[in-house]
Amino acid sequence: MENIIQSIREGGYASAKARQFTESVIREMSRIAAAHNAINLAQGFPDFPAPEAIKQAAIKAVNEDNNQYAITWGTKGLRDAIAAKVERDYGVVIDPERQLTVCCGATEGMIATLLATVNPGDEVIIFEPFYENYGADVILCGAIPKYVSLTPPEFNFNREELIAAFSDKTKAIIINTPNNPTGKVFNREELELIAELCIKHDVLAINDEIYEHILYDNTEHIPLWTLPGMADRTIAVNSVSKTFSVTGWRIGYVQASAEITASVRKVHDFLTVGAAAPLQVAAAEAFNFGADYYAELAGFYSERRDYLLNALEKVGFKCVRPQGAYYIMADITPFGWDDDVAFAKYLTSEIGVAVVPGSSFFRPESTAGKTLIRFCFCKKFETLTAAADRLAKLIVK
Ligand code: PLP
Repeated sequence: MENIIQSIREGGYASAKARQFTESVIREMSRIAAAHNAINLAQGFPDFPAPEAIKQAAIKAVNEDNNQYAITWGTKGLRDAIAAKVERDYGVVIDPERQLTVCCGATEGMIATLLATVNPGDEVIIFEPFYENYGADVILCGAIPKYVSLTPPEFNFNREELIAAFSDKTKAIIINTPNNPTGKVFNREELELIAELCIKHDVLAINDEIYEHILYDNTEHIPLWTLPGMADRTIAVNSVSKTFSVTGWRIGYVQASAEITASVRKVHDFLTVGAAAPLQVAAAEAFNFGADYYAELAGFYSERRDYLLNALEKVGFKCVRPQGAYYIMADITPFGWDDDVAFAKYLTSEIGVAVVPGSSFFRPESTAGKTLIRFCFCKKFETLTAAADRLAKLIVK
């Protein structure tokens, strides 16, 4: 017994796959923030109330005893509401019976999609910096991540580098637009090149669109699956977490061709059986919100982006202005630091503001994130102003 405990402490019973990645730094920063009573600008979740109508819908669903397993791939009501939303937002008709799988957040949607489509030894292209989960997801499938750099200040990729990343082992490419952590929104020209390469090399595209409605400065979100030839080879992963400010509900969905959906549904069934039944009823209400709600949401976050950007630049951070999502990547070198992890710890414990170290958005061997940290601004104004007051103590070297 003692041997097993000792071995667990040393990671001796961790599988070869589990040894290849660390726990999530983003989520760890929330725990550290709580331990230091720091303002949490690390993990991307709102600190303000969710829309009243959907909270009431959730309470009603529980009270009306929607408390047992829902149909594995999602209630008909929710899938119908998602299909109606897709048609309303993008003018595309999808079949809710054969093309949608409701999952436990986009998180499960991504891993279920990869497990359903990728074989051990396949290569999966990931743009770097990337949302932390993607690297671990690909490794859990036994596949090999191939990285393509997004270079500041625009976070554009190099055309030749992308072309070279496609090989005869490439099975899929993950795109996240609007992008976490960079705020980049992929434009039509970039998406057309990705589409051309996917078609040429017979590669699947997995499009994480969780920030689709969090857009600034008249930027347009173009779903990859609306491009010619991409409808059947693109899998869209989406969620209620960010659009409706309910990250704790854990309701997301995968939209794909009927053939891919059949495979995703099998994996999803054995991974989770299904997402929370009463919250699926409430999520169906949320997907009925339309353009006015999206415009209000974007305006709400645009004000917060401008405020935090201004505050950070005034203190001395060098930042990239995000076009979408709710994060700001900031360069820490003006303060004389070149170790993102040490700086993030200092900010949390000494200044009282928690952020995410930049290196967690890059492959382990990369040094590109060492001079970066990520702030999130999906917070009440009073939270952001309190954080700005604390950050004002920083001194440029
Ligand atoms: N995808 C991206 C790009 C994210 O930033 C996040 C959360 O921050 C997720 C997925 C997780 O989504 P969900 O809450 O739906 O699991």
